[in-house]
Amino acid sequence: MRIVNATLTAPPPAPGSEQHVALDFANSDLALTAGRLDLLATPADATRWLVDRGLAPEGAEVYEYCTGRLRELRSRLRVLLAARVDGAVPPAEAVDALNAALTATSAAALLRWDEPDGPYRAPAHPADQVAVHAMAVIAADAAELLTGPDAARLAACTASPCIRFLVRTHAARHWCSTRCGDRVRAARAYARRSKAEAAS
Ligand SMILES: [Zn+2]
Repeated sequence: MRIVNATLTAPPPAPGSEQHVALDFANSDLALTAGRLDLLATPADATRWLVDRGLAPEGAEVYEYCTGRLRELRSRLRVLLAARVDGAVPPAEAVDALNAALTATSAAALLRWDEPDGPYRAPAHPADQVAVHAMAVIAADAAELLTGPDAARLAACTASPCIRFLVRTHAARHWCSTRCGDRVRAARAYARRSKAEAAS
């Protein structure tokens, strides 16, 4: 179920998001203590997300169909990142989906020929181009993230209910944000207090 709640705010970008738009993209599906937040919930949300990251030109419009494809790619990407973190082999469908996005060409303008313009070239489906281009860039970065030097430091935030991924800045880093770290520390302190009270 997709819950959209405007009062929920995303924590600051997880470590590694600046270097890897694919990580930022995977983390656009958020589980906060107050509920679920999907930064690609609507075409307007998806458009804003892409424009903010320079993946779509200002004034671009991503349609419902393309928004669904973006969310689909995101869920496949999350499977791939989780597999990398767990040292597991992901389902072939997830790899195939990434490769399909990686190799989809948005540059091949078709030949048109009509009166009175004569021959000219135009994109096949102009409305799809924005999302196809963005997905190709995200997929290329994801492939780089999964195979490059940062892959070994890829981690999943361990602060429940958070589901974000991060690139660890140091070995002991287990949380994507101070917000998540503080929550875990508070929970531990509470557990210690409760145990102490139960023992007394
Ligand atoms: Zn987190």
